[in-house]
Amino acid sequence: MSVSERPEGLHPDTLAVGFGYDPASAYGSVKPPIVLSSTFAYPSAAAAKDVHRAYFDGPAPERDAPFIYARLDHPNLQLLQKRLAVLDGAEDAAAFASGMAAISATFLAHLKPGETLLHTQPLYGGTHGLAYGPLAGLGITAVPIVDGLDEASVLAAAETALAQGPVGMIHVESPANPTAGIADIAMIARVAGIIAERQGRRPVISVDNTFLGSLLQRPLEHGADLVITSLTKYAAGHSDLLGGCLTGSLERVGPVRMLRTLLGTHMDPFTSWLLLRSLETFPLRNARANANAGAIAAFLRDHPKVESVTYLGFLEEGTPARAVYDRQCGGAGSTFSFRIRGGEREAFAMLDALKVFRMAVSLGGTESLICHSATTTHYLVPPEIRRTVGVDDGTLRISVGIEHPDDLVADLSRALDAIP
Ligand SMILES: *Cc1c(COP(=O)(O)O)cnc(C)c1O
Repeated sequence: MSVSERPEGLHPDTLAVGFGYDPASAYGSVKPPIVLSSTFAYPSAAAAKDVHRAYFDGPAPERDAPFIYARLDHPNLQLLQKRLAVLDGAEDAAAFASGMAAISATFLAHLKPGETLLHTQPLYGGTHGLAYGPLAGLGITAVPIVDGLDEASVLAAAETALAQGPVGMIHVESPANPTAGIADIAMIARVAGIIAERQGRRPVISVDNTFLGSLLQRPLEHGADLVITSLTKYAAGHSDLLGGCLTGSLERVGPVRMLRTLLGTHMDPFTSWLLLRSLETFPLRNARANANAGAIAAFLRDHPKVESVTYLGFLEEGTPARAVYDRQCGGAGSTFSFRIRGGEREAFAMLDALKVFRMAVSLGGTESLICHSATTTHYLVPPEIRRTVGVDDGTLRISVGIEHPDDLVADLSRALDAIP
């Protein structure tokens, strides 16, 4: 058997390049072709019936049936999903048109009216908007966990939720944006067990793993049921496409994929192919960006015009956050915030003096990005809430790319000098 079929013992670097694809399936082409067809021919009328029976009634219905129509499944999507599953150490994966498409389909498939959704905070803006807007309209109540590192705090939030209805899901975002706040996935999984004893059913635990990605954090190994990732960020890595992914057991992913067929939010063939291409260099890009980020974080921490840096690698020894970080994360990633001395005026002066960093939201691309959180990503968040989530007028978020680290440090140094 070749790398196309057997993941055991192989490193992510190797799996990212070849897993799931057999050149013999496509004229011997070393790279998978793009199959753009929206529909797939049946060899006979009886075969058509069999295909539909397999899709709707088979043991793993929507996953293992022959292709019917591209919204249900198509060759590039199937291959991409195999590769994403193996990188997350999951039985199954479903890819979507964006990260929010993955999050919304997961919530809609696993939550019912009258149920509650426990969640860590702060949440990604889109997730927050979904939970407190359309989901609230469907009779689903979102309940925040104050401190995802403290079991008593999680239990207190569970009590609040249980008083309003069964807990259908627990959604964890760790590390959080832009605070880099950490939640203890294993402890939250234990609390899910306690909730199960109370309500007779274990809530589904989903983890938004966008901020570290599958190479640095594997939530399924710590007790999560589902992992959601915006592929737009590190996995795609070139800031040129939108995509999302859900991984977990066939039992938990299957219903979400079935719903995806009805919502029509699958990933298209060309984007799936681009992602397969991106994944091949994911480990290389990740290693370089992480090393660059470490160097930049150290430079900023020691700079007199910088007040603080929320880089995960600087978590203090002996703190609960550090203990969970050491157990749960394989590295600090390459997106973090820092606060310069002063406010909006000083922040803007620095931003306008940068030449290598590009000013834009998003993260995880080959290029380094920077943005002023209060006036961009957190524009809609009221100032008092902004302060509680650690965003003030001097806060800047950077996503470090794969450029030469000396050029990035020199750019930041010059820009900090430009602050009057
Ligand atoms: C970007 C992001 C999302 C949403 O992903 P899209 O691909 O933009 O839909 C969700 N969660 C986190 C943490 C993100 O950074």
